[in-house]
Amino acid sequence: MPCAPLIDPFARPITYLRVSVTDRCDFRCVYCMAEEMTFLPKADLLSHEELTRMCGAFVDLGVKKLRITGGEPLVRRDIMTFFEAMGRRLGAHPGGGLDELTLTTNGSQLRRFAKQLADCGVKRVNVSLDTLDDAKFAAITRRGRLAQVLDGIDAAQEAGLRVKINVVALKGANDDEIIPLAEWCGSRGMDLTFIEVMPMGDLGNEDRLDQFLPVSEVRETLAARWRLTDIPLRTGGPARYVRVEETGQRIGFITPLTHNFCEGCNRVRVTCTGTLYMCLGQNDQADLRAPLREHPTDDAPLIAEIRRAIARKPKGHDFDYSRREDFGAVARHMSVTGG
Ligand code: SAM
Ligand code: SF4
Repeated sequence: MPCAPLIDPFARPITYLRVSVTDRCDFRCVYCMAEEMTFLPKADLLSHEELTRMCGAFVDLGVKKLRITGGEPLVRRDIMTFFEAMGRRLGAHPGGGLDELTLTTNGSQLRRFAKQLADCGVKRVNVSLDTLDDAKFAAITRRGRLAQVLDGIDAAQEAGLRVKINVVALKGANDDEIIPLAEWCGSRGMDLTFIEVMPMGDLGNEDRLDQFLPVSEVRETLAARWRLTDIPLRTGGPARYVRVEETGQRIGFITPLTHNFCEGCNRVRVTCTGTLYMCLGQNDQADLRAPLREHPTDDAPLIAEIRRAIARKPKGHDFDYSRREDFGAVARHMSVTGG
């Protein structure tokens, strides 16, 4: 029997789930991780079976879009087993089906996995890429090689996946590459989104004011070159979009700090250990691993815990750079919640 859908206290239907499947990564991006990271013991992570059960429960509860993230999702062992299982929930199902299965990746493993992802029903991927310059790429990611990511993007396009590039706007690092990045994406038929760096992490400089580049400045740079028209495409998320009139390209801006984007929020996040966060910018959480492990063959306690958590989803986040002393940063790395 289909379950009643998830509706939060502000009448927002919860239809979008982002799941971080690992805290590990082959990169150490400066705004995301420390140089030396201690990763979680394997036993703390949800197994593939637990991940599949948990995501399946959310789909039964009306989730239509599932985004897999991390850490780097494609470095988790046997990750395709999980994608295959979730791919089987795409389309119409008696308990409810997914409209979309997608992932956010740093692109390093796409050459290896793009075709399998497409075979699982993935149609689009978001690839994070902040620069087209070898040396800067190495400096930002601390471990990554640009050529490998560019080759991964080629592989994704060859496999028929639609690629969107996510660029974190970083003062002093890629503010001189706004136009080249937009031209490069445009020439390859890829959408592009600029993201403001968020006050995440626990590296001692959580406010990240040194790197903060408002995307309004990115937009001004683009507007000096092209004619931009706002497009009223709201996805329930923080992105706003413009169309470049000269090329037809679509460019997005994610401004979690300078605008409040919460009123249409339709999403929740789960970490690789099964912690459900009802809001990216708040610390309230629910432990879904306990009901998964304590009741391995009965989903009722899991579903009850999900419902209790959604019933306290807050109205919005508290990030605010104008409050220097207490700016609402939450003490967890982006790699834990997956952005
Ligand atoms: N490893 C994958 C990747 O890099 O795409 C997925 C996980 S990563 C945490 C998800 C997104 O979060 C990436 O686009 C990354 O650039 C972004 N991100 C990480 N730390 C951030 C921060 N402090 N502020 C804004 N975006 C951040
Ligand atoms: Fe890894 Fe993605 Fe974080 Fe970079 S942003 S360190 S690629 S998880």
